[in-house]
Amino acid sequence: MSNQVKKMYIDGQWVESVSGESFPVINPANGEIIARVTKGTREDARLAISAARRAFDESGWADTPARTRAELLNKAADLIEQRADEFAEVDTRNNGKPLRESAYDVQDAVNQLRYYAGLCTKPQGQTYDVPDEIQAFVVREPIGVVGAITCWNYPLVMNVQKVAPALAAGNTLVLKPADLTPLSTIMLFECLEAAGFPAGVANLVTGPGHVVGDEISRHEWVDKVAFTGGTETGIAIMKNAADTVKKLSLELGGKSPNIVFADADFETAVDYALFAIFANQGEVCSAGSRLLLEAAIYDRFLVRLVDRAQKIVVGDGFHPDTEMGPLISEAHMNRVLSYIQGGIEEGARLLCGGKRLLRDGLDKGYFVEPTIFEADSSDLRIVQEEIFGPVLVVQKFHTEAEAIRLANGTKYGLAGAVFTNDGAKAQRVIRKLRAGITWINTYHPTFNEAPWGGYKQSGIGRELGTYGYEAYTEVKQININLQVKPSGWFRH
Ligand code: NAD
Repeated sequence: MSNQVKKMYIDGQWVESVSGESFPVINPANGEIIARVTKGTREDARLAISAARRAFDESGWADTPARTRAELLNKAADLIEQRADEFAEVDTRNNGKPLRESAYDVQDAVNQLRYYAGLCTKPQGQTYDVPDEIQAFVVREPIGVVGAITCWNYPLVMNVQKVAPALAAGNTLVLKPADLTPLSTIMLFECLEAAGFPAGVANLVTGPGHVVGDEISRHEWVDKVAFTGGTETGIAIMKNAADTVKKLSLELGGKSPNIVFADADFETAVDYALFAIFANQGEVCSAGSRLLLEAAIYDRFLVRLVDRAQKIVVGDGFHPDTEMGPLISEAHMNRVLSYIQGGIEEGARLLCGGKRLLRDGLDKGYFVEPTIFEADSSDLRIVQEEIFGPVLVVQKFHTEAEAIRLANGTKYGLAGAVFTNDGAKAQRVIRKLRAGITWINTYHPTFNEAPWGGYKQSGIGRELGTYGYEAYTEVKQININLQVKPSGWFRH
């Protein structure tokens, strides 16, 4: 580890905090400190917000032609791609996820930059056929200063998902990444700087959420907050943002159902049930953390599922055989383990896993076994609450109506899937799911072209696709009088 503290990027300069403080960043596979990063304060956040405000109001950035913004975004994409291996290694070292998943994330981030570079140059707006010799049309304009606050499960992608559309649409930005995983975000800002984004347009403040994030979500000069994280934090941010009526997008938690009917392709459904919950260590907002199984295949399915879950190779993300890495931190691991303990105490039956892994040096990191419970009641906390780890809860259903009722029976509404070979039933059930991201006979494939976001307490608004671009724009109607003469409304 280099002794140098990694700096923040404010107004085109790499700076330390006004407090001079820093914090350690940990490798969750072995608990080692891998870097020290500047610990931003409220004052640092205000400096960054002021820089973004000036850049938006005075630098001409908002009037930069879309073609120029696209060139800068494409340049940033090229620069990230040139350092793709380094980015992937940093994310695996900092987040723990298997290297193949980090490599996939890097390409996803590059694709997002290129997608929004392309999109901002495409036709936009509307015209209306209205009376009174008025020519009426609508243009989209940037919102202003965007405050972006993100979480740690996809350290690079999560940030690019906000940076790319925000800058493509002509906003300026202050980004606060998760304090657990700031390293690839710092590299992202190196690429934005090298690509040539003007000073103040994109600013990075690292540090704690309740300080830096809180300031960003309150400050009157921030016009929009784009947040990804837990529902409780989202609620706090929404309250902060209310005082100055900020635009808001919230990507929050989930407890997503994966419904398997007896007529589904058996091996495909088993395979995706595992992928749905154990990919990325279960630290996925859209994870299929509730498996709903039709009674006729229930026992046979569980035997196969448990057998395969027990064979998942858990280990250091750098080992080529590793299929599941460590959880992000000791505190998060303990939270997951306490949910498991709570599930046992509440009467759920533990079918496999449930323990921290301590063999072969894994005791230095935060590894938890792939864990499967079966539950008879929907009232259990492990059925209702997001665990955000490798813990699956299985419930049995007998009818289509019961499956739908169980599927919609939490406060969340992020994602969900149905497996069946009956096409009409698949569509009936998916249309009844109260969720924003859904699949039939698959789980997890998502695309930068398609909107991402949740119903109910899983969030507000959508990221990605054209919806995710529009979320960073204001809509202005312009009415032009084609017959310039007085209105004659008042007589005198
Ligand atoms: P978190 O809410 O604790 O933290 C998210 C971010 O908010 C971090 O940067 C944190 O520093 C900051 N923060 C914390 N307190 C704050 C405050 N009071 N004011 C402002 N900012 C604050 O969430 P987490 O534990 O990092 O992430 C896990 C959660 O994120 C899960 O619930 C998961 O479902 C959710 N998530 C959702 C999506 C989605 O797209 N819907 C994607 C990934 C993760």
